[in-house]
Amino acid sequence: MRPEILFPLFAPIRSLPGIGPRLEKLVAKLAGPKVVDLCWHLPTGLVDRRRRPKIAEARDGEIATMEVKVGLHVPPRIKRLPYRVHVHDETGEMQLVFFNPHADWLAKTLPEGATRIVSGKVEFYQGQPQMTHPDHIVSVEELASLPLLEAVYPLTAGLTLKPFQKAIRAAVERAPDLPEWQDGPWLKARGWTGWRAALDAAHAPQSHDDLGALAPARARLAFDELLANQLALGLVRLRMRKLPGRTVKGDGRLRAKVPLPFALTGAQAQALKEIDTDMASDRRMLRLLQGDVGSGKTVVALLAMLNAVEAGFQAAMMAPTELLARQHYASLAPLCAAAGVHLELLSGRDKGRRRADILERLAEGAIDILVGTHALFQEEVAFKALALAVVDEQHRFGVHQRLQLQSKGGTATDILVMTATPIPRTLTLTAYGDMDVSRLTEKPPGRQPIDTRAMPLERLAEVVDAMRRALERGAQVYWVCPLVEESEEIDVTAAEERFAHLREIFGAEVGLVHGRMKPTEKDEAMERFAGGATRILVATTVIEVGVDVPAATVMVIEHAERFGLAQLHQLRGRVGRGTGKSICLLLYQAPLGETAAARLKIMRETEDGFRIAEEDLRLRGAGELLGTRQSGLAEFRLADIERHAELLAAAHDDARMILDRDAELETDRGKALRVLLYLFERDEAIRYLRSG
Ligand code: ADP
Ligand code: MG
Repeated sequence: MRPEILFPLFAPIRSLPGIGPRLEKLVAKLAGPKVVDLCWHLPTGLVDRRRRPKIAEARDGEIATMEVKVGLHVPPRIKRLPYRVHVHDETGEMQLVFFNPHADWLAKTLPEGATRIVSGKVEFYQGQPQMTHPDHIVSVEELASLPLLEAVYPLTAGLTLKPFQKAIRAAVERAPDLPEWQDGPWLKARGWTGWRAALDAAHAPQSHDDLGALAPARARLAFDELLANQLALGLVRLRMRKLPGRTVKGDGRLRAKVPLPFALTGAQAQALKEIDTDMASDRRMLRLLQGDVGSGKTVVALLAMLNAVEAGFQAAMMAPTELLARQHYASLAPLCAAAGVHLELLSGRDKGRRRADILERLAEGAIDILVGTHALFQEEVAFKALALAVVDEQHRFGVHQRLQLQSKGGTATDILVMTATPIPRTLTLTAYGDMDVSRLTEKPPGRQPIDTRAMPLERLAEVVDAMRRALERGAQVYWVCPLVEESEEIDVTAAEERFAHLREIFGAEVGLVHGRMKPTEKDEAMERFAGGATRILVATTVIEVGVDVPAATVMVIEHAERFGLAQLHQLRGRVGRGTGKSICLLLYQAPLGETAAARLKIMRETEDGFRIAEEDLRLRGAGELLGTRQSGLAEFRLADIERHAELLAAAHDDARMILDRDAELETDRGKALRVLLYLFERDEAIRYLRSG
């Protein structure tokens, strides 16, 4: 349970002064629903109001704080025009400019003859200095309360800076002093303060340097987050290591019977060897099999599952969607049949008799390999002796689910997680630090490279012509529509419009699939395309994951400049799966920005997912990398994997050392570290402690 000392931080933002229902919604969407989320929302800018020029010294465009005497008020003759207030000092004159001001407010704030301090941006208009809507207007006595250095925060439409600043200040004030969880000498060596002081400092930058990722306060907070992440993964790993495993060692007889029409690649053979070794050991396997789409993960998984069956156990394979589960089933079925292995599919749609029958046979051990979706997690699904669980397309499953799966096998289930999302090494550490990793870095031989081209959207007509020719050749086409951030609705509209447009040209051969459709509708649309009933599939990024249509050899990506590199790579991976030559057209809106141009260039240069992932990290920083949010990879609020790479490595080592000495987090530092884990919402990791 979360310690009481953290309660104020986990209160809803509603409890902060000035946050009513309207602001609550905006702020929650931007930063998060809890007080602590506001603490993590760090400033990205700084307004420095320390310059105090006389009017004659004011410079165009600068932020200045000035003492002035209020002169004449000049209301506008027409409503549209601004209301002007003349002010002056001994050096010159200036005008304060207001659009649609409240007359009472103006009269009260700027009474004629009074002395006022105004702070804001100075602009010159027809040679005269003026200040439009000063940020602050105070009396001379109130000068002390005027913030001369103001932190600026990322905002969202409808949210203005002032109330937001106020809410954040209140949130930070709620933060309690917490016991120090960092190593004293380490803090000293780095010149870092305690957590509370670092939080304050991070929200009160004194210079632009203080906004940098490596400024002491920010680095300290980032390190805290990285340590929490590494410690949580370390705890999971430690727990896994302690759970008894079981020795699973097949004799190869079923593997020999499977009619694979090819030899394994070197990378596949190596991965399989690692898996065999893990399974044969009496420890539990928790291994990640990483490899690009088409690198041959499924085959490796099948052979691993056969190993379990040969040894007299069962295996399960889980996919993130019904369709993928069925696809796996269809591709495994002939191979299993040839080897005399009993394969079954359990989907969420299986109800009544059929379901009961499957469950019964599963419990009796009459089913060797079960393929399915999350449905396999359900309590009433009981295996006789599950030795290996394969989880495909991992990114929909979190660490917690990985562990939940563990318990399925009763005593000891080995886990093999497959992911097609290439992840740079540094990120692997943060997301899968609890797992061992095998990488399929090599593709099966004979793959044709995908002809990747970039062209401006103006050439759409040419693209449509090329489509026509491709269709005549019997090809099928994916047409992916732009991703508009934060608005699925606009995504859908764009896809619907393109669908209507292509329908006019190509008729009923055009299908549509998008995220707003019901899962069954989506599956149907995909199936019609897979079966060839439709031959152009207009889609939003929902097709990113998994589905295999070998006849689809053309991929058109509209507004390719809006996609991340990894996403482009995933999308392109939908083609080039058959033997035909494949094309990928990246349609972009000119002119291209520098980063977008670099992305498209890399796409043309390489199909190597690992290289693309590294480049992606380099180009973007880890923030949005791989669409981390969708992918369920570790998400960091404060740390930036690229800029804090060195801190990540240090956190990794530190976590190891801590757990070596104090695996149950029972020393004083250990207890403080528990608070750290709760602070960063790694609650589940605490459950793996004896006294958690
Ligand atoms: P992944 O699951 O990694 O996307 P798959 O296992 O589905 O890849 O393999 C993609 C395709 O490549 C399949 O048609 C599979 O039969 C084929 N394949 C797998 N391994 C090899 C290999 N060593 N040599 C030739 N083809 C292979
Ligand atoms: Mg696959």
